[in-house]
Amino acid sequence: MQIVVLRIGHRPERDKRITTHVGLVARAFGAKEMLLTGRDPSIEESIGDVAERWGGGFKLRSDVAWRDEARRWKDLGGKLVHLTMYGSNLPSVIDEIRGCDKIMIAVGAEKVPAEMYDLADWNVAVGNQPHSEVAALALFMDRLLEGKELEIDFGEGLKIIPTPRGKTVIDRPARGEQSSEPCSEEKGKET
Ligand code: SAM
Repeated sequence: MQIVVLRIGHRPERDKRITTHVGLVARAFGAKEMLLTGRDPSIEESIGDVAERWGGGFKLRSDVAWRDEARRWKDLGGKLVHLTMYGSNLPSVIDEIRGCDKIMIAVGAEKVPAEMYDLADWNVAVGNQPHSEVAALALFMDRLLEGKELEIDFGEGLKIIPTPRGKTVIDRPARGEQSSEPCSEEKGKET
């Protein structure tokens, strides 16, 4: 399944951390790309840094025109899911959505334009209470992918070896690169 996330209405002065977290969730759970209306160099830097060190080839595309992107996606056979507390509650539509192979997931920041509600194939609520785009995206992707997103191995870059205590991280060469030494191990380093 091909997944991209469309982040609408990012306000650089207010939304830096939240938009960064939307991007991190999108990448970690298997989306290939985040499209962002507007441009924010600090987000480009932090998402780019994680994608480079942790692998997986995730891309951030800034300054997109959201209507054009959504329409093009649909013209090419993709489906558009807009996450909104006003929509159909997740359990009632997720089985239907899971049948699609190309999904664009739109999340807002400030008020989302009314046109999005019409353009979307599904307006989906992750519970009909206001909360957060990060939580909504994470829960939606988890239900969509039925937990498989928790076992993704990007096959390159840093990889955590799960341990009950402490921190073990190995570094693997990028795809197509030869490793000059076996895996190095880093301990106690945060992302
Ligand atoms: N006031 C904004 C509006 O009217 O669209 C919503 C702001 S909310 C903090 C930002 C985004 O979080 C929304 O655009 C939506 O994508 C997501 N969101 C918040 N609660 C949600 C819910 N219960 N279900 C799905 N998405 C939700």
